[in-house]
Amino acid sequence: MRTPVIAGNWKLFKTISEATTMVAELKPLVAGTSHVEIVVAPVFTALSRVADVAAGSNIHVAAQDCYWEEEGAYTGEVAPKLLKDAGCSHVIIGHSERRQYFGETDKTVNRKTRAAITAGLTAIVCVGETLAERESDTTFAVIEAQLTGGLADLSTGSLKQVVIAYEPVWAIGTGKTASDAQAQEVHSFIRSLIARLFDRSTAEAIRILYGGSVKPDNVRGLMSQADIDGALVGGASLKADSFAGIVNFAD
Ligand code: PEP
Repeated sequence: MRTPVIAGNWKLFKTISEATTMVAELKPLVAGTSHVEIVVAPVFTALSRVADVAAGSNIHVAAQDCYWEEEGAYTGEVAPKLLKDAGCSHVIIGHSERRQYFGETDKTVNRKTRAAITAGLTAIVCVGETLAERESDTTFAVIEAQLTGGLADLSTGSLKQVVIAYEPVWAIGTGKTASDAQAQEVHSFIRSLIARLFDRSTAEAIRILYGGSVKPDNVRGLMSQADIDGALVGGASLKADSFAGIVNFAD
């Protein structure tokens, strides 16, 4: 049985006080939820304070990015072990906005993922095709290249610390969700790819999240698909009641 993960990506939103207030509001709304791994990803400056507020609850804290070196002359970067030190258990890597605006490549995703795993974090590795790639029927090839590159040289055992997020770029922040069947088709492809790259039991165990305009009113259909093990949520994760509505999808 795969424990579903519902992760909120807060992107470049929320001050420290807004972020801690939101977690304080969220806690009672999800206190009874034991069947879901709940993750929130605030901006770097709020991580430590959010982790303090979330401590002792069922809410985990993720960073939205990391660097691959442990320390050194790398101005502006944050190492995975410092994210751990700030109270993070997870880190999002390779989000399409980082690929699009900040030059993230499959190679940097791979270095970051390996560093995150070494530091003891769970890496939420994002992949997804653009609209042009979908329309030119290259979705599977794009996902295969992103995962083959992004997960290169990882040991099979280390995949326990990896969660994959399939986020079609055309569905992020657009209000357009992939249909349940469209998402399931890619998730099933990803699971068989993991079996090919690693092995069948690793593929059966890995959690594959869907991301792209997930809301309380469409999460149930997505979660009913055989290979969808949770959601990475942007816009609808910014308010406690709508994020709780997604976390509590089974109620
Ligand atoms: C995201 O940022 O990962 C995302 C899926 O955003 P949204 O839910 O707003 O589409």
